[in-house]
Amino acid sequence: MTRVIIIGAGGVGTVVAHKVAQNAETFTDIMLASRTKSKCDAIAAQIQNVKIQTAQVDADDVEQLVKLFESFRPDICINVALPYQDLTIMEACLKAGVNYLDTANYEPLDEAKYQYSWQWAYHDRFKEAGLTAVLGCGFDPGVTSIFTAYAAKHHFDEIHDLDIVDCNGGDHHKAFATNFNPEINIREITQKGKYYHKGEWIETEPQEIHRPLHYPGIGVRESYLLYHEELESLVKHFPTIRRARFWMTFGEEYLKYLEVIQNIGMASIEPINYNGQEIVPIQFLKAVLPNPKELGENYTGETSIGCRIRGVKDGKERTYYIWNNCSHQAAYRETGTQGVSYTTGVPATTGALMLAKGLWGGAGVFNVEQFDPDPFLEEVARQGLPWHESFDIDIEFEK
Ligand code: NDP
Repeated sequence: MTRVIIIGAGGVGTVVAHKVAQNAETFTDIMLASRTKSKCDAIAAQIQNVKIQTAQVDADDVEQLVKLFESFRPDICINVALPYQDLTIMEACLKAGVNYLDTANYEPLDEAKYQYSWQWAYHDRFKEAGLTAVLGCGFDPGVTSIFTAYAAKHHFDEIHDLDIVDCNGGDHHKAFATNFNPEINIREITQKGKYYHKGEWIETEPQEIHRPLHYPGIGVRESYLLYHEELESLVKHFPTIRRARFWMTFGEEYLKYLEVIQNIGMASIEPINYNGQEIVPIQFLKAVLPNPKELGENYTGETSIGCRIRGVKDGKERTYYIWNNCSHQAAYRETGTQGVSYTTGVPATTGALMLAKGLWGGAGVFNVEQFDPDPFLEEVARQGLPWHESFDIDIEFEK
């Protein structure tokens, strides 16, 4: 008997709505709310087995959110709007007594910083309120952090090296498109790279470090080191880690477009004045690029995301690889969206199931790796993201 509200009706919100509805024995009352109500109505109309209530809400406005929460009385809020709304939604959850879960850390509109400090600062208030806030429960962050926790719990006494490897081996047959919100995606990729090494953060130029990595079921793909938010919480919660890096694959064509977009100023987050109106170039660019939610129909191939780990167990060095492959077509057949939205929405729903069933909990603000990984990984496989593991494989762990 859990009442759940989903905020955000984009690609990820679509998947969460489908998945929550598939778990109607746990989520007995479901509401989907977003800035544009017609998008919520369209998603609700696709879902036949249960009735999903819909509502309009501006999630930048705490009072509007509180009013909505007070009328619907949710137990859990799944925030799959944009990272800019994290703090207002957390604030409203505190005011209305609602547990909170998201998939991306807070970012102010005017600076792309990727740090948990703003949200970690809410820990004491959630603790005093007796509420749980779960941060970063998508795939990365999310499943990758839980894979690491699983490895630490079962296979290592100490983790020393962690490489999170994210490959989209799919093809959407568009000249250029991003797989999730273009504004958030381009902000992430065009920032400087950063990785953790022996207690320090080493900064790199964007896409400066890259190498071909092999992905199961896909093959070799050029992979680029970039900073990703889960590195911050993982090195905090697993202090034996000496080096932590994040790699993502990009095609040559994608990077060429990105270079042009940057060189002509369209990736900028600084507002400019255009004919008397203030516009942010990257927001304008989002308006003309393909909508990631609509890439699914012609998307072929798979994503492959996982963790490659080196450390010690019983005094011996060991390597370990844990990963999931997800087919874009299978995701589309089930939910009408592509694999990147699917691999985010399924873990978000699974995290909410963990809270609803009391398998995760506690008062305060938590990153997902702080919870027991076992019930989550069992459930996430059942919900559509099976995972695989391999030991003592030849992993590219250069010095
Ligand atoms: P979309 O842009 O497709 O969807 C965002 C939704 O949020 C839209 O429906 C939008 O409304 C709504 N929204 C935006 N601003 C507001 C507001 N002020 N009030 C109410 N609703 C608002 O994004 P995605 O679905 O691709 O991504 C959703 C989230 O998932 C993002 O935070 C993204 O960073 C995260 N993500 C996480 C991943 C992970 O693995 N951890 C991977 C991929 C994404 P409207 O339709 O009116 O624009």
